[in-house]
Amino acid sequence: MLELKGVSAGYGPVEILRDVSLQVGEAEVVALVGPNGAGKTTLLKTISGLIRATAGNVVYDGQDLTRASAAVIVGAGIAHCPEERKVWSHMSVEENLELGAYLVRDRGAVRRSLQDIYGEFPVLEERRTELAGRLSGGQQQMLAVGRALMSQPKLVLFDEPSLGLSPILIRQIATIVERIHQRGIAVLLVEQNVDLALRLANRAYVLGSGKVVAEDKASSLRANPSLLKAYLG
Ligand code: ATP
Repeated sequence: MLELKGVSAGYGPVEILRDVSLQVGEAEVVALVGPNGAGKTTLLKTISGLIRATAGNVVYDGQDLTRASAAVIVGAGIAHCPEERKVWSHMSVEENLELGAYLVRDRGAVRRSLQDIYGEFPVLEERRTELAGRLSGGQQQMLAVGRALMSQPKLVLFDEPSLGLSPILIRQIATIVERIHQRGIAVLLVEQNVDLALRLANRAYVLGSGKVVAEDKASSLRANPSLLKAYLG
């Protein structure tokens, strides 16, 4: 469904990703783990069109998205839930969610998604008219996840969804990923919390210095902690 073939990318002259190939199958949860600075965020940005691949191809559902705009990529069904929960702090909670659906023309579908997300995160409904910037860190994280889901994606790219959250909220994020999976939506999950990532994922890739250094079933990687430690440093 999503396939990266020999992708290289970076920032200006600095090449970060080198010859990365990976796949995310339909309704599959795939974890992407690796030490700090390995290029995980860069990889997600390359998929969602925020930075350009300098070599290789990003193909999704048979469509070559390597040089597509971020809007076309969202329209194709890929939503990006970025690191640092970048919500629009001067807009209300509900405006943030509605903007997540800016490409969805069917207003009835937008209402249904909104109700769905409020069902999932009741606190967002309680605070729907408040400015997003007034939410707690955990609530902003929920909002960022909710906003990504508003575009009715078929694949969600999550960048460190558990970062800075309390254990209770981390459990909630894990539940969300599981529910997304149950709905038949695929997930590519970047997580510092490797244990969490491998519990949620079917398969995992380990990235080291911009390259894929290992790929396996998540259960196999979990069963081999010493190998995993060697990869992750
Ligand atoms: P982390 O878990 O620390 O976020 P990561 O695996 O997600 O790590 P990236 O954020 O993709 O790693 O960063 C990979 C490399 O790219 C790092 O060396 C980083 O310093 C560099 N980098 C990231 N953003 C930029 C940028 N805007 N301009 C130049 N270099 C950057």
